[in-house]
Amino acid sequence: MTAVQNEIERRGSRIFELVDKHPQPLFSKAGLYQRLMALSMRDEQFKVQLFRFVDVLPSLRHSREIIGHLNEYFSDDGFGPFVGTGIRLARIVPWVSGPILRWNVSGMAHQFIAGKNSDDVIKTLRKRRSQKIGFTVDLLGEAVVSEADADEYAARYLDLLEKLARETKNWTDPLGKNSELFPVVNLSVKISALYSQINPADPADAIAHLAPKLRPLLRRAREVGAFINFDMESYAHKNTTLELFKTIFREEEFKNWPHAGIVIQAYLRDSEADLRDLIEWGRKRGTRFAVRLVKGAYWDYETTKSLQNGWDCPVYFQKPESDANFETLTRLLLENESIVTAAFGSHNIRSIAHAQAFADELGLDPSRFEFQLLYGMAGPIKRALVEMGYRVREYCPVGELLPGMAYLVRRLLENTSNEGFLRAKFAENVSAKELLRDPTELIKPAVAGIGDPGGSASADGKNSTSLDIASADVYRNSPLVNFAYKDSQEKMQGALREVRKRFGEKYPLVIGGEKVWTDQLTPSVNPSAPDEIVGYGSEAGIPEAERAVKAAREAFGKWSRTPFEERAHLLERAADIMERRRYELSAVEVFEVGKPWNEADGDIREAIDFCRFYAQQMRRLGRPKLTQRVPGEDSYHHYWPRGVTFVIAPWNFPIAILCGMASAGVVTGNTVIMKPSEQSIVCGAMLMQVFEEAGVPSGVLNFLSGHGSVIGAHLVDHKDVDLIAFTGSREVGLKIWESAGITRPGQRELKRVICEMGGKNAMIVDSDADVGEAVGYSIYSAFGFQGQKCSALSRLILLQDNYDRVMERLIPAAASLRVGNPEEPGIMVGPVIDEAAYRRILDYIEVGKSEATLAYQAKDLPPQGYFIPPTIFTDVKPNMRIAREEIFGPVLSVLKVRDLDEALEVANGSDYALTGGFFSRSPANIERVKAQLEAGNVYINRSCTGAIVGRHPFGGFKMSGSGTKAGGEDYLLNFLVPRVVTENTTRHGFAPEETPEYRDEFLPPQQ
Ligand SMILES: Cc1cc2nc3c(=O)[nH]c(=O)nc-3n(C[C@H](O)[C@H](O)[C@H](O)COP(=O)(O)OP(=O)(O)OC[C@H]3O[C@@H](n4cnc5c(N)ncnc54)[C@H](O)[C@@H]3O)c2cc1C
Repeated sequence: MTAVQNEIERRGSRIFELVDKHPQPLFSKAGLYQRLMALSMRDEQFKVQLFRFVDVLPSLRHSREIIGHLNEYFSDDGFGPFVGTGIRLARIVPWVSGPILRWNVSGMAHQFIAGKNSDDVIKTLRKRRSQKIGFTVDLLGEAVVSEADADEYAARYLDLLEKLARETKNWTDPLGKNSELFPVVNLSVKISALYSQINPADPADAIAHLAPKLRPLLRRAREVGAFINFDMESYAHKNTTLELFKTIFREEEFKNWPHAGIVIQAYLRDSEADLRDLIEWGRKRGTRFAVRLVKGAYWDYETTKSLQNGWDCPVYFQKPESDANFETLTRLLLENESIVTAAFGSHNIRSIAHAQAFADELGLDPSRFEFQLLYGMAGPIKRALVEMGYRVREYCPVGELLPGMAYLVRRLLENTSNEGFLRAKFAENVSAKELLRDPTELIKPAVAGIGDPGGSASADGKNSTSLDIASADVYRNSPLVNFAYKDSQEKMQGALREVRKRFGEKYPLVIGGEKVWTDQLTPSVNPSAPDEIVGYGSEAGIPEAERAVKAAREAFGKWSRTPFEERAHLLERAADIMERRRYELSAVEVFEVGKPWNEADGDIREAIDFCRFYAQQMRRLGRPKLTQRVPGEDSYHHYWPRGVTFVIAPWNFPIAILCGMASAGVVTGNTVIMKPSEQSIVCGAMLMQVFEEAGVPSGVLNFLSGHGSVIGAHLVDHKDVDLIAFTGSREVGLKIWESAGITRPGQRELKRVICEMGGKNAMIVDSDADVGEAVGYSIYSAFGFQGQKCSALSRLILLQDNYDRVMERLIPAAASLRVGNPEEPGIMVGPVIDEAAYRRILDYIEVGKSEATLAYQAKDLPPQGYFIPPTIFTDVKPNMRIAREEIFGPVLSVLKVRDLDEALEVANGSDYALTGGFFSRSPANIERVKAQLEAGNVYINRSCTGAIVGRHPFGGFKMSGSGTKAGGEDYLLNFLVPRVVTENTTRHGFAPEETPEYRDEFLPPQQ
């Protein structure tokens, strides 16, 4: 054992001795809380239900609601006699049990919350002072969804600072040494509480808004001799927080002020680089600053989020890795003590003992750094540290119960986590020797697939071409670009610059592998700046349409007989090319259709996914499969392509939808004529380039830009077109549907139509919903990409109980949105597509004004471009035009209803059935809505937009579509004709024993 490990063990054992001298349970409060925690640690299902119940309780106003939820969450009798008795009692005397329960959960929350407000908290702080424990105070609050919320927060911080400064004027340093490094008043600030529109892609905007809100607080802190710490939150905000810190404390006014600190999270893989960078920054600045080192409070969130988005996970996967990194960073901090004051935020005695031992080795006086621990937890450790002569500060959250819930739930999770130190020590009595082990010895060698979002699928080979897998489940989506990285931001900026240089270029038609130029050119304009022409598309007329059909028909013979493996490879090559050209293609979308950065990237990602997913699906469908195993007879079910496919795509997902329909056609062995929307010709031309580079044979994919009313109508009616794949408006969709039903002379096949149309999507907000979440997601669903997604929210249905609470936050949230040119990184609402759309939406707004109440309309809009102000109408009734007709713009109708019955009636009382959503924390209501909401895609407690290929097969019914699901396992079947070939294999009573499950393809005959 090394000398350092020896010393750590010696010190750790001493802390354990002191801790055990005053035995105390894990948490300072005993009784119900202890028992609930013990049960949670034993039973994972109970833990989930308990946390969910704790989360919803503060929003329930009546005893009957509380009892109702209690029943729903704990109806399963497996939850032990203690809870069972409580529920039975509650059923008998609800008016008593409701308040008692609320009181008990309040008690739980108060275990971790030091006071309701600044007056309340001061009592706690005084008590701690007598125990020689300092404080840092943090303000709890609900998620900030508007600038009104953020301003209120900033004012509360200032008020808290004033009161604390006044009340603690005469307090002295508990150690009486080096007190100039550790002001008595210490405030912890969360930057996400101060600006509602932080976008990781745009740190400069965040800093521009945050700095003015912070300066008055910092100024005042400096005047009253207080300390301000920037807490660290989720990874998405990390770079912005660091950048903000470095920017503001380099300003003339603050550059000599030493009482600023920031948090570094050791669970992050890039934390060492960040800390080194901060230290270097501090040395250049020349003034001392502070760092609180923690492991990090968002481990579950970060791993889930990165798994969902296919991102490299920013946190370590093994707990000892975080512990070991904490020690590395501890050493780095203490070695640089001349410029940075260290605070160690941990309850882990090994981590604490290591810091003590290393400080000792460096000869640092214990009064020159501090240990910070959370209020309400690990009391004996705090006491032990004080007794050993160390500086201890407690992190004291202040706030109301409701806003405090998120914090409470995080603490509950942490304290009952399997891997946590506190649980091991206080609940499981793991030995001191075990708990003091060197974490580097506990790190297991990396195993592919463990915890690695990418690893698991490939490690077990499931993501291969095996035929019998539940393929959507193992399909691995292309990751979204993570714009939190500077590198991604720079690449996007670079792509925008490059694409701008190509403005005005001309793009040909592609027919039978030849580039075809026509006399007529259609300009495609930038909707943010209509005098800018992004590019010109050659305009096809009837002769070109005829040529395209001929080319496609000629190519069909060979392509339909090309093995599916080859066709699948073509799609995979196209996907790889789009991956390579990802930023460029996104930039084209920003200019041509006004997509914000992340929406444009989402579109390219979807196109890539369509290609790879359909390639995988084709492999599953391609080989003829035995229907039943019966002796003496083989029957193989298999598919043939239909023929010539005409793809008509919209502009709102200009590459993804075009690519989805065209790639499905191509991979199934059909030949395709693709017509992009007139408003997104350049995007269409880009997709054609991608397929050409991927090696699509002549005539298999033809690119025909032109007017829908001319070539569209001609090709829909054409006898040689066998299949039409359309996504667009209801008006055009219905015409196509009807027209395709007519059989023309010489027509060989019944035309198949895939018809995806619009929506009038509803979101219901239940009376117990999390209002912050419901508002945040509703705003995004209604106004993201200017409301121009067919999945966008247009009817927000609020239960009357919750109406005021939601509206109070909805309007300010809409008023805080960033509307502008989406070339800027953090814009959420850009221009609508063109002048016609602009006029039509404005007309609808006039209709709305005459029918309902205009509750909100944005004012400051860019002077040029097709910008429509985000608009909200209230007092909307189900029969009004704005509640029935698709507007396809940033206009939201709010409908108030009595109860969930009426909400469902209103939601379902629409011609459309595309997407629908529900916000609720009632398990019973959630189940009911899952079953009864009429929509092709039902989303619970999340936005109703953003379907992901394979994960959320997308498409609606009623007047929203013919019931197909893009990105689903059954989508390709729409492009295929099923066949079954049966052979009697018996000869004179003798039948072969073995019949293979799959056989080679029955390729269609040569045409
Ligand atoms: C005073 C104070 C201030 C704080 N401020 C912040 C802050 O600003 N931002 C913030 O994010 N957190 C903050 N925290 C919370 C802190 O991050 C957690 O309390 C802390 O992570 C618990 O660590 P520990 O050393 O006490 O316990 P331990 O039990 O030793 O560590 C638990 C931690 O290990 C990490 N972990 C768990 N499982 C794994 C795994 N499988 N792989 C890798 N790592 C894993 C997680 O970070 C987890 O929280 C603060 C804590 C304190 C005490």
